[in-house]
Amino acid sequence: MGVLLILPCVTALVLWFVLKDPKFSRIMILMLLANIATFYQLYQFKRVKRLLIEHNGKVCGNCLFPLDGLDDEGVCPECGHPYEINQTIEDWRHDLALQQLLDKGGSAS
Ligand SMILES: [Zn+2]
Repeated sequence: MGVLLILPCVTALVLWFVLKDPKFSRIMILMLLANIATFYQLYQFKRVKRLLIEHNGKVCGNCLFPLDGLDDEGVCPECGHPYEINQTIEDWRHDLALQQLLDKGGSAS
């Protein structure tokens, strides 16, 4: 995955050096920014996925505060967002297709 993202960037860098054409430097900068944005998204996705598995999907949909150990219904103590725990888990499953991951984690209580 990372190779697929970096390859166009390296290609632009090589073209910039070989052809000495300044337009490749602009393309390279745009690709670098796109790469950074993509890696950031991947990092965030993995972070959220890890958090959801760790807390069996019981994580605030607004601020990612862990809701396990709290009432099944209420407001998030961190951000005040109202939640209903079964709906929150369903929303996460729907949003990130985490069905298998949450099931793999064990207790689907
Ligand atoms: Zn919250």
